[in-house]
Amino acid sequence: MPDARPAAHVPSGPHAVLPPQSLTGRALLMMGLRITLLLLTVTTLSYLHVYSSARRATFEDLRQTVDLQGRLEGSQFLHAERQTTMVRDEFNRRLALLGDRDPADELERTTDGRIRVRSASGEQSGDQQIRAIAQLDPLVQKMPETPDLRRRLLVSLRLLDQWGTLLTNPFCCSFISLPEATISFSPAPQSPAADPHRFAALDDSAVNPEAARWTGIRYDDEINEWLVTCVAERVGTATPPMRAGVDVEVADFIGRTMGGASRDSADGTINMIVDAQRRLIAHPDFARRIGLANGALPLRELDDAELTAVIEAAFLQVPEHGTTVIETPPVNALIGVTRIPGPGWLYVAIHPTSLLSDSAFATARMVLLLGGGSLIIELAILAYILHQQIARPIASFVAATDRVSRGDFAVRLDHQREDELGQLARSINRMAKGVSERDAAIAKQFQELDHAKRTAEHANQAKAEFLGTMSHELRTPLNGVIGMTELLITTPLSVLQREYAETISLSGRSLLGIIDDILDFTRLNAGKLRLDPRPSDLAQVVTEGAALLCADSSKKGLSLTVHVSPDFPQRVYADPARVRQVLINLLSNAIKFTKQGGVAVNLHCVGLIDGKAEIHLAIEDTGEGIAADQLPLLGERFFQLDGSYARHHNGTGLGLAITKSLLALMDGALLITSTPGSGSTFTAVMRLRLST
Ligand code: ADP
Repeated sequence: MPDARPAAHVPSGPHAVLPPQSLTGRALLMMGLRITLLLLTVTTLSYLHVYSSARRATFEDLRQTVDLQGRLEGSQFLHAERQTTMVRDEFNRRLALLGDRDPADELERTTDGRIRVRSASGEQSGDQQIRAIAQLDPLVQKMPETPDLRRRLLVSLRLLDQWGTLLTNPFCCSFISLPEATISFSPAPQSPAADPHRFAALDDSAVNPEAARWTGIRYDDEINEWLVTCVAERVGTATPPMRAGVDVEVADFIGRTMGGASRDSADGTINMIVDAQRRLIAHPDFARRIGLANGALPLRELDDAELTAVIEAAFLQVPEHGTTVIETPPVNALIGVTRIPGPGWLYVAIHPTSLLSDSAFATARMVLLLGGGSLIIELAILAYILHQQIARPIASFVAATDRVSRGDFAVRLDHQREDELGQLARSINRMAKGVSERDAAIAKQFQELDHAKRTAEHANQAKAEFLGTMSHELRTPLNGVIGMTELLITTPLSVLQREYAETISLSGRSLLGIIDDILDFTRLNAGKLRLDPRPSDLAQVVTEGAALLCADSSKKGLSLTVHVSPDFPQRVYADPARVRQVLINLLSNAIKFTKQGGVAVNLHCVGLIDGKAEIHLAIEDTGEGIAADQLPLLGERFFQLDGSYARHHNGTGLGLAITKSLLALMDGALLITSTPGSGSTFTAVMRLRLST
């Protein structure tokens, strides 16, 4: 269960896991980052949405407001234009009706030197008429001398008499210029000397004489008013021609335009009026100066080159009767422009786009504040829930799995929950139960195996003891048989008897060899065979041992050579009987499995390793050889090559096993090399101490 352990117990490796608190913290952090990202996206989208909505609304509002304002304010100018042309047309009509008749008898001089229309009833006309006549006094001191002037005077005075109250109001003053004198319908007395513009300003006129036209704005010192005048040509037949017109006071209009439209106004929009000569008529910056300045304030006083350029462009863009809204990046504003009917002024409203972005930003900031606040609260609640619902249960799971890993399988987790953690708890419980059951089964199995092993070992030991005892017991009578047979051979026997006796002796010795092998094998297996090392002349041991098998090799017509290397040590600590046994085992095999050729025995010392002489005793034959796949099997107890020639020979399959065990006791080994068809070399390696 390494996965379930806390990381503190598993510091590294592929199975290491993170501590649970780090997992929770990281999950919260990632969630916080994601939500923050989401919040920023929502805020940005809100900002863009609010900005574009506000921009659309402002655009339309501005267009409608400016359009309405232009129409409303322009209505008084349209009215003045209609009034002017109406007075001109009526004057011309009445003059034509009068024809060439001299109306001298219809005019009379008053005692104070003024001129008035004689009434049919003999009574004087009303106050309006008298005021109009009084205005003539400075210029016309006596009864006009020409019939033309008398006719024009009569028509003017009658028009005034009938329409005077209709044509004049506090903001509008109609007049007729004769031009010998000006007859004004103003309720207030006005000096003709104060009106030189009515002639001087119009002399250079090149406009359509049928239409009314407008003068520029001017300041009248007499009445302390800002005026703009609408004038109609082609009145009467006098030379220079007469004119009719209307003076319109514009101070109220200018005040209205700028009133509540200063830079500090609620919606931040700035209103301006620009005349056809690109001069500012009204602007919040000089709202307080409007009553003081002598004449209109020139446009260049607006210290803003970019705005000036925009207004110049507006003059070109705005239709004759209509409104347009321009968005100009240089001044960062929406600019509504409309042409005011009448004097041809532009009404301009500037709405800075910063106002839009400010309000959009305020909304976005509110979204961000609310979202951020709720995010923090959400995360705090989430952290608490995560800790209570996940981190704590996981910590208890870790503790439980830790106990299981230490072998405490009794641990059980609470698994009331139906969610994944409940499933995990049940799974851990099942696992602990399963491991516990398997552990018990393995322990039981182990006990059984241990019992079986002990039984087998006992049986093996008993078998070994039995074999040892039996071998030993067999040797004694067998030695007796062999000894007696040997003695029998020394007695006088017939040829046939001798042959039988020698066969008995040979079979007995063979049987003795097998019994010796079994005895050795049993003792080696039981670890009871001990070597008896003593200073020995191994060259002699090997030479004598080989001599014992000389007869066998001769019988098969094989050569047998023994070669001892010249530098072979004189004496080494060795058990000569066991070395001889190794030699005879290997040599008898070589002779046994070789049909022709011969067997060579080589004894030499390879060198000193760790203070011991490494001695190689190699037996090389020219026999059938051994297949490569069989080589690793040689030396296993009771092994004989399958179906081979070996089966036809006597043997127990113990020889090589005993040899290997004996060589192991001599700190050595058995090396086998073989080429099938050519022969084999069995090398007994022994590591023996040198004897001085
Ligand atoms: P055995 O008593 O049968 O000879 P060993 O353990 O001495 O038992 O030999 C095992 C087998 O190894 C032999 O039966 C034989 O098949 C093979 N063997 C051993 N020595 C030689 C050899 N020099 N040439 C070929 N085969 C050999």
